[in-house]
Amino acid sequence: MAIKVSEIFHSVQGEGQWAGTPSTFVRLSGCNLRCVWCDTPYASWNPEGEIMELDDIFASAKHRHVVLTGGEPMLFTESVTLSERWRKDNRIITIETAGTIFQDIHCDLMSISPKLSNSTPTSDAKWSKTHEERRWNPEVINKLTKNYPYQLKFVIGPEVTKDINEVEALLSQLEDINPEQVFLMPEGRDSSSLWSRAKELIPACMSHGWRIAPRLQIDLFGDTKGT
Ligand code: SF4
Repeated sequence: MAIKVSEIFHSVQGEGQWAGTPSTFVRLSGCNLRCVWCDTPYASWNPEGEIMELDDIFASAKHRHVVLTGGEPMLFTESVTLSERWRKDNRIITIETAGTIFQDIHCDLMSISPKLSNSTPTSDAKWSKTHEERRWNPEVINKLTKNYPYQLKFVIGPEVTKDINEVEALLSQLEDINPEQVFLMPEGRDSSSLWSRAKELIPACMSHGWRIAPRLQIDLFGDTKGT
């Protein structure tokens, strides 16, 4: 059994509740969305990588925490097989997904990043329509949050108020969401713009009980592949 892998690397988790935790990242290549600000186009718009045997992917885990990311790892049944093997090996598994596809998979944290309308690639007619039809799927997200420990991470763009209003509207369509597991994550490619936008998110987090998600990988390493 084999699958296309964009990259495998070892670093600290940059985002969400396990930020700072040493982890092995396995990035699968291929995505069903095309976010305009995608920071991993080599796993989405232009999927790159090599076909690897699952045995070799499994053996690459050097840390107790393993993060299966993409692209969209829930597209692939091989993700389920990998998660079964890591579970038997006592690994702590995070799945990073946009929350548009459900699979019965092993994980300790379902890290869901539903995409707002700020992600839609308006200048690409074909992908604009397809992305818009796929990006928000409350039925799938409700199923994921009921079946797994979860966090919800929303990427907030320059139009902060509009995006926060959209987050409120989307969350109202979901069931039994713990606000402490909702993270607002500024969009940006450099540390200073990230933190300046993060300051604008404080009032919404204070009033709703949400959290601001750092992006440690950008603070520590810049906008660099393999971090
Ligand atoms: S879901 Fe993730 S990998 Fe896919 S296009 Fe959006 S940002 Fe890129």
